[in-house]
Amino acid sequence: MIVGLEEIGQRASTGVLPGGDQVDVLVGDAYRFALRGTGGEVADYIPALAHADPELFGVAVAEVGGGLHAVGDTGVPFSIQSISKAFVYALVCQSLGHEQIMARIGVNNTGLAFNSVIAIELNDGHPMNPMVNAGAIATTALMPGNTAEQQWEAIQTGLSAFAGRTLALDDDVYRSEAATNQRNRAIARLLESYQRIDVDPLAAVDVYTRQCSLLVTAKDLAVMAATLADGGVNPVTGRRVVSATVCRDTLAVLATNGLYERSGEWLFDIGLPGKSGVAGGIMAVSPGKAGIGTFAPRLDPAGNSVRGQLAAAHLSRALGLNIFASDAAVPEADREAG
Ligand code: GLN
Repeated sequence: MIVGLEEIGQRASTGVLPGGDQVDVLVGDAYRFALRGTGGEVADYIPALAHADPELFGVAVAEVGGGLHAVGDTGVPFSIQSISKAFVYALVCQSLGHEQIMARIGVNNTGLAFNSVIAIELNDGHPMNPMVNAGAIATTALMPGNTAEQQWEAIQTGLSAFAGRTLALDDDVYRSEAATNQRNRAIARLLESYQRIDVDPLAAVDVYTRQCSLLVTAKDLAVMAATLADGGVNPVTGRRVVSATVCRDTLAVLATNGLYERSGEWLFDIGLPGKSGVAGGIMAVSPGKAGIGTFAPRLDPAGNSVRGQLAAAHLSRALGLNIFASDAAVPEADREAG
């Protein structure tokens, strides 16, 4: 860890989106481009998710200026699943701070699946990062609150503030996962055996299971992502949800871990911090510009939405969002002329 970094002021490195109705046109293009993604399977390891219509598909972009662009099934609710990890992490960062959260949860990729038990064993019980289940359950356990119920209330209120509306729980999905999440319970017990969790581990898994069962739409995900893109202020409600520093730290973790063991491929193709969930949602964040939310239930073998990845890839290129893309400050022609 680099000591003393937090005393140095953070300047933003940001640009602007194309103007007019260009964004609407490009969101439509991205939607049509992604229709070529006809492969993948709907998740069924949580029984209630298996009923999802595999053909649902929506793409939404929320600008930091408040503009919203949406095509397809962007108003259809689905459970947020692992995408909740990003927002709960942001809320815990807000209360714990940069150094504490780094020490307790970590930021490095495991190179293994999101629900890997081996990853915990290989790393001496360290949860590694907040986007895999071990790190996410350990993060949920750190939410402010004296009881699991208070922690749950703080999560529901916090995620609703990111979305700019009250998010409801999908009771069927919650019950279905609670009845079949032996693996997550085992992960929490393993963390307990390494003294990596301070509260009742099964209560932490229960709160985690509830946070995963919150219902969102692709439009909600776009607004939630836009809040992370906007230094922590929800661009629709105008309310600050977390600090700009917390957004920066959350996005760094999403860049390295948001798509699990596929995070490198995602960053190479799309070049944005992002997060996927097994119900078919993906969100991606373009700092200072916009948030992307997609919903398409068919997943690749790593658990990432096939069409969501294609739509995000198209938007990242067409809207100029890739954080690694630059042009020469002085174009070659001008250099020669000068
Ligand atoms: N609730 C799911 C689980 O813990 C979330 C996983 C995901 O979206 N990748 O298995």
